[in-house]
Amino acid sequence: MVEAVRRSMQEAWGNPSSTHALGEAARAQLSTARAAIARLLGARDAREVLCTSGGTEAIQTAILGVWRAQRARGRTTILSTRAEHAATRRALDTAVQEGARVVWLPVDAHARVDGASLRAALSHDTALVTLLYANNETGTLLAEEPAAVAALSREVRAAGAVLHLDAVQALGRIPFSVIELEADCVSVSAHKLHGPKGVGALWLRPTTKELWEPLLAGSQEAGRRGGTENLPGIVGFGVAAEEARRWLEADGPRALAAVRAAFEARILERLPWARIQATQVARLPNTSSLTLPGVDAELLLALLDAEGVCISAGSACNARQRAPSPVLEAMGLSDLDARCTVRVSFGRHQTVADAQAGADRIAAAACELKYELTET
Ligand code: PLP
Repeated sequence: MVEAVRRSMQEAWGNPSSTHALGEAARAQLSTARAAIARLLGARDAREVLCTSGGTEAIQTAILGVWRAQRARGRTTILSTRAEHAATRRALDTAVQEGARVVWLPVDAHARVDGASLRAALSHDTALVTLLYANNETGTLLAEEPAAVAALSREVRAAGAVLHLDAVQALGRIPFSVIELEADCVSVSAHKLHGPKGVGALWLRPTTKELWEPLLAGSQEAGRRGGTENLPGIVGFGVAAEEARRWLEADGPRALAAVRAAFEARILERLPWARIQATQVARLPNTSSLTLPGVDAELLLALLDAEGVCISAGSACNARQRAPSPVLEAMGLSDLDARCTVRVSFGRHQTVADAQAGADRIAAAACELKYELTET
């Protein structure tokens, strides 16, 4: 991947919008990468994929683009949950400032949205439904089976609304296809699959076009996203997408789930008082959300960091905020439990031995801190 990015910068430094030979070479790289991203997404046509500066931009482009187009048709309600990623929450804040009404659907103790509440809330006024396909803190999937997501998508569409899925955490970690999910817009990001940071994509169903408008005006990306494309980043995304596709085909998620299972088993062996969130529902194979009552997550992180073990409190995306995670709050965790919850995530290259060694370090640090907490 790194080599492909370097070559792109050295050999295809033309602007993909230019008509000369250098532009042509850059355009060819752009379309190869777009095809690879589309293949991983399971899209029918690479032209349905528009490249963005990351997951955040893809999400905001989907949410605000649909909201503004639907508002023009007199629809004012957006359905979502309080367990969404900050990128979605911020986009919804903007929509509210522009006159939208957001209905917050409840999530259960495993961060799953309640399907019955969602169906009951759908109406002729619903502009958009925006949900996580995989939660970034617990790994919880929107549904056990893609068919359940597809059924939901059809109901949302039948109500005249649009379904947007934030699949940033899911892409490259579990196999899925936008065709099978039947969603209308799907946001993804390269860095979750070992691609470069600052590059992502939004998949738009061709029929969603009339219910969406661009956020950044300009001729690039077929008039859907203005601004010269980040070609080296997109090339890196394309290569990472191909690598992820091969890993998924080689049963990678099962191997990763075994690494996580070894980690969780060792944690519970060493810390029988620990709680692991969302284990009873379908979740991503790489994520483990641990509640360690009496252990301050921030102190645990700092202690482990000094030993070279990198984990996060809540999710890495909001790690610099001290406020308790809205996801854990929405799941009904007390403020105290939320402050004692850490997220551990595993990469494709980690082994069972790595996971067990990490669990031993976490357990030792947690025992040290729990003791100190009860002492004071
Ligand atoms: N959505 C989810 C679920 C995420 O975990 C993240 C974090 O990376 C984002 C959106 C934002 O993506 P990006 O960092 O590419 O802007």
